[in-house]
Amino acid sequence: MPCRYFLSIIFMKALFIGRFQPLHKGHLDALKQISENEIIIGIGSSQYNETSNNPCSFEERKKMIENKLDSSNINYRIIAIPDINDEEKWVDHVKDITGEFDTVYTGNSVVKDLFKKKGYSVKDIEINIKISGTEIRKEAERLFKMLEKTKRTFSYCLSIAPTTLEINKLKREQDAIILAHSYQTTDIMYGVADFLGDSYGLSKIAAEHSAKKIIFCSVHFMGETAKILSPEKEVLIPAVAGCSLADSITAEDVKNLKEKYPGIPVVTYVNTSAEVKAESDVCCTSSNALKIIESIPNEEIIFIPDMLMGHNLQKRTKKKLILWDGVCIVHERFDKRAVDKIRAQFPETKILAHYECTSSVTDAVDLVGSTSDMLNYVKDNPAEHYMLITECGITDRVQTEFPNKNIVGSCQLCPYMKKIKLEDILVALKNPRKDQVINLDKEVLQKAKISLDKMMELSK
Ligand code: SF4
Repeated sequence: MPCRYFLSIIFMKALFIGRFQPLHKGHLDALKQISENEIIIGIGSSQYNETSNNPCSFEERKKMIENKLDSSNINYRIIAIPDINDEEKWVDHVKDITGEFDTVYTGNSVVKDLFKKKGYSVKDIEINIKISGTEIRKEAERLFKMLEKTKRTFSYCLSIAPTTLEINKLKREQDAIILAHSYQTTDIMYGVADFLGDSYGLSKIAAEHSAKKIIFCSVHFMGETAKILSPEKEVLIPAVAGCSLADSITAEDVKNLKEKYPGIPVVTYVNTSAEVKAESDVCCTSSNALKIIESIPNEEIIFIPDMLMGHNLQKRTKKKLILWDGVCIVHERFDKRAVDKIRAQFPETKILAHYECTSSVTDAVDLVGSTSDMLNYVKDNPAEHYMLITECGITDRVQTEFPNKNIVGSCQLCPYMKKIKLEDILVALKNPRKDQVINLDKEVLQKAKISLDKMMELSK
């Protein structure tokens, strides 16, 4: 083929034929093994056929491949070609569609023989896919059942299915459980998590469960709380994520407060570091804060670090609360005007707000509570419409778990919680980085545990 020879001197092109059904990292690794200047990626045209059982259209698959290849430095073209069959004319037909190429790369033995017979140079390529297409499709279908309620497409589910399968497999092999806070994304909550909940509820599960390893999908202080309650277990957090409340106060600040107000007990919201907990008398959650405050005999109490929650509690107790100026950057953003607007537009809507919101908001709603309080309210209330003044993960949970309930108004995203991705969980299971492993100073851990145990005792 003189023409092909001439072209190959100018520009080497390779035709890669892979099923890409569905797209897997193994395909991308395979493409990186090809040294030619340009790779023509052939995708079977059965994707055009609506009656086939192929779940993705060619355009959807093309987009998925392009997204994955974007930063790979591979020079490529993606072309739809007819499905593989054993007729020799198929090879000519492929060439008509793709144009000239120098070498064919494939892992498929039928394709290999067909091109060889026609005199092409054919190279075997290693496509490292340990999970079969059937397994991946089944997993995507499982994911889609849950995630479609929050507007995720089937092709999105296909693209994450290899990762969720691998995570779930490793988790079983390693005797690990995955805990996900209700502010996590739905792929984590419904794709890989064993338990969903709020910070303290999940830490209790971590302590009571027999698993050796805990992957805590949430912000750093929650991983620490799990470690304090179950020090013998390996606790990992997928990404290093702070929290505006936890970051607002240090152990040194607590020592200074105690010096300034000697003898006044310190009640600390769980959204704090282990060091801050260690300097406190008792911890609390948004569900039990009022009960804890009322159960302490003193008339004055230092409540840290959430100022807005402090204002909300102050309205509900006769005790004098000394407050810190920490805020949750997610809940402080909500404005009472949004509540008034929904009340005017949809008067039958039940409006629920988190304790971390401003008191102008919490004064105007039907329920003020923790994330669990809100979910329980939606579950038990016959009303159809709800406005949830909190992080969007809760809205996603309501849409997924209570499809007959309708959400009105908008939520806010927590940039810390949303830092965690499925890939981070995979790294934590496969080869955890140092910053993913929760390690606490023994003394800090023991002192912090006293304040958490005290909370349990007082909230009974
Ligand atoms: S929602 Fe607020 S309190 Fe919760 S992690 Fe984000 S910043 Fe912290």
